[in-house]
Amino acid sequence: MTELLRPSLRGFGTSIFSTVTEQANAAGAINLAQGFPDFEPPDALVNAASEALHAGLHQYAPSIGDPVLREAIAGHQKAAYGLDVDPVTDVTVTAGASEAITATLLALLEPGDEVVLVEPCYDLYPYAVVAAGGVPVYVPTSFPDFALDLDRLAAAVTDRTRVIIVNTPTNPTGQLLSAAEIRALGELADRHDAYLISDEVYEHLTYDGTPHLPVAADEACRDRTVTVSSVSKTFSATGWRIGWAVAPPALSAAVRSVHQFVTFTAPTPLQRAAGVMIDQAGTGDYYATLTAEYTERRDILLAALDGLDLEIGRPAGTYFVMTRYDGDDVGYVRDLIATRRVAAIPGSAFYYDGRTGPGRGLVRFAFCKRAETLRAAGERLRHS
Ligand code: GLN
Repeated sequence: MTELLRPSLRGFGTSIFSTVTEQANAAGAINLAQGFPDFEPPDALVNAASEALHAGLHQYAPSIGDPVLREAIAGHQKAAYGLDVDPVTDVTVTAGASEAITATLLALLEPGDEVVLVEPCYDLYPYAVVAAGGVPVYVPTSFPDFALDLDRLAAAVTDRTRVIIVNTPTNPTGQLLSAAEIRALGELADRHDAYLISDEVYEHLTYDGTPHLPVAADEACRDRTVTVSSVSKTFSATGWRIGWAVAPPALSAAVRSVHQFVTFTAPTPLQRAAGVMIDQAGTGDYYATLTAEYTERRDILLAALDGLDLEIGRPAGTYFVMTRYDGDDVGYVRDLIATRRVAAIPGSAFYYDGRTGPGRGLVRFAFCKRAETLRAAGERLRHS
């Protein structure tokens, strides 16, 4: 079916999330595979969207984004991380973080430029790199701590490197980049004149008091980093497709050049609602409540997995638990769906360079689900 697709893109096949969700639905399985909440976003967000729809916000927003949302994002970066961000020159609103990442790659890469990716990584990154004409260079990390091997990283980053993509907190590992890792990334980028894309969509999902460290807060990274985030995870609205890229003016100008010709702008009323919600979240206990609720969900899932034939990683962030099975993860997940009617993602799907290596046996479970959903999954895992 993909004979019309460019040969360089055919190997990526169908997204693992679509594939497993389809299998889960067909089997009547509880979907702990695809990361989407099965609960409602905050009322304040939905009400703000309703108000925006009734206030006549139906036409294009400015291409760079609704001013209320850009101000809110800049305010958030200052309040949460002490970062000075100019809402006029440094913030671009996009159709989800996915567009922000793809637009940045399209903006920065010439054919043949290398992009360093840390494995395991989200499936969009290698695809977008190849689609933009780039060449992925992978730095693998391993269960359970998935620490960056700084020597391997240094060997991967060369003068051919145009971009390094990182994701912290990291999907699918649940780990966070440390200050030392971020500094090393910045020094390498600086030495080789490369740019950083830091996908921080899980910035508000961290546990046990582990702080999220924004890459752009490091001096070595500040002038070279495009920070990407979105409403999807923080406000439980993955279908809204509202994301953003925050970067110094010259980098933002490059991203904006592509964005204006890809989507021109993201949905206007949803942008406004996101702006209202971010402002409101900043003045109350929204983020603390989110952390508390997700900590409970994580602990229910960890308890549900305890005692199975899996080694369990403890996530410091994101809404994923990474586990390891002593065998083939693809077969394990197939059996899990068929016999226990619980779906997860085979972790080798997040490795692109040698799937039999450190990805073999990894199984990712998502806990962005109601407590009762997670408990029901636990029951099924135990009795079947
Ligand atoms: N980001 C989500 C995950 O990792 C799902 C993304 C998707 O469905 N494309 O599960």
